Amino acid sequence: MNEYDSERIYDIAKKINYKKTVNLDETNCYVLNTCHIREKATEKVYHDVGRLKKAFRNKKKPIVVVTGCVAQAEGEILLKREKYIDAVIGPQSIHRFNETISKIEKNYKKVNSTYFDVVDKFDTLNSIKNFNNKISSFLTVQEGCDKFCKFCVVPYTRGPEFSRSIQELVNECIELVNNGAKEITLLGQNVNAYNYNGKKLSDLINEISKIKRLKRIRYTTSHPIDFTSDLINVHQSSDKLMPLIHLPVQSGSNKILKSMNRKHNIENYLDLIKKIKKINPKIKFSSDFIIGFPGETEKDFNASLKLLKEVEFINTYSYLYSPRPGTPASKLEQIDESILKKRLKIFQKLAEEIKMKYKKSLINKKLLVLFENKVKGKNEFFGRDEFSNSVIVKSGENLIGKLEEISIIDGNQNTLFGVRKDHDKKEFAA
Ligand code: SAM
Ligand code: SF4
Repeated sequence: MNEYDSERIYDIAKKINYKKTVNLDETNCYVLNTCHIREKATEKVYHDVGRLKKAFRNKKKPIVVVTGCVAQAEGEILLKREKYIDAVIGPQSIHRFNETISKIEKNYKKVNSTYFDVVDKFDTLNSIKNFNNKISSFLTVQEGCDKFCKFCVVPYTRGPEFSRSIQELVNECIELVNNGAKEITLLGQNVNAYNYNGKKLSDLINEISKIKRLKRIRYTTSHPIDFTSDLINVHQSSDKLMPLIHLPVQSGSNKILKSMNRKHNIENYLDLIKKIKKINPKIKFSSDFIIGFPGETEKDFNASLKLLKEVEFINTYSYLYSPRPGTPASKLEQIDESILKKRLKIFQKLAEEIKMKYKKSLINKKLLVLFENKVKGKNEFFGRDEFSNSVIVKSGENLIGKLEEISIIDGNQNTLFGVRKDHDKKEFAA
């Protein structure tokens, strides 16, 4: 979502003639878009600004703006502690970016823009063209969360659940497709909680499926309790919807899920997977796990390992539990870090083995790949198959934007290597 927000900040800033650059030498405004979900997020901001100060020691100071969830959660503290920062803008106030810059240009000191202004934000964003021209683009459809899992900062930093209107989303999708997008990933902290005047995520998927030149639709992240039967059914009826579902579970232990306030248990999670597979047996799952939530015993941890094996997630994101300021779980007794690290290592080793077995099973198979870009300095193209697996193919012809069946000839945990159907297999080895 931060990637989507960053792109939209560029779109907004264009209006006041600022251009995107990654070159520090030509930077006169430096925007640090931050995430607060884990670990020492605030410390990272101070480090980054420290590096910036060094780089600009003998030059004119750029305007420095911190956006994102760290700005929302700790904006006032950032402004007080680090004088180099001129402004903080929360995720629901990014539409005030130009106003903020203009205040700083007029010598206002320390602008704090951290209102929850989500309706106003999307009203403004709807009136500004989305210039993103990636083959695979993100589109935020829902923001915020009302679930209040005890470990998570999102309900405090992104605010309550909010869904954008179907019409504005269809319009933005058409805009992205006109810019060249062939694949769109619908985003939300709880994307399947999408509800605009009774219209649900399945309705939105059906609507955007009608856009002819749009080839693929994905969505993330889903919460197990919002996975209603209409969404399950659309996985059978829509041929544009990709068959990989990211379904974070967090733990394999019912005791831990309860103390996390997750609102689902392992039985109904597995039951949901069964229902989805019954509708479309091709579907595969990826998930998020938190290792070492307060109170997690060896038995609870082993239950997470058991679930990992049972579902055979093709991809998992596993994190050490990170106490977040202001969340209820941060007040609970924390588990010793050495135990946490040991558990994470064991978990990730098993997750990698499962992933490797899956990737190996794809060698000698044919996969449908959408090519997104050229590998820098090489005659190779990067794309993704239906399950989001990364695939690299050698080709003298430009493949960007093409959807092609590729024969996989080799692979490792992260990347598969393939050859085009009508081309000599030697092309890759050449
Ligand atoms: N809304 C989604 C859900 O509940 O399934 C997850 C969205 S959350 C922004 C992304 C992931 O960050 C979570 O699934 C969780 O695994 C991880 N996460 C959130 N807070 C965390 C914390 N305090 N420590 C470690 N991981 C955390
Ligand atoms: Fe955070 Fe997801 Fe729980 Fe909401 S449902 S509080 S975003 S982990």
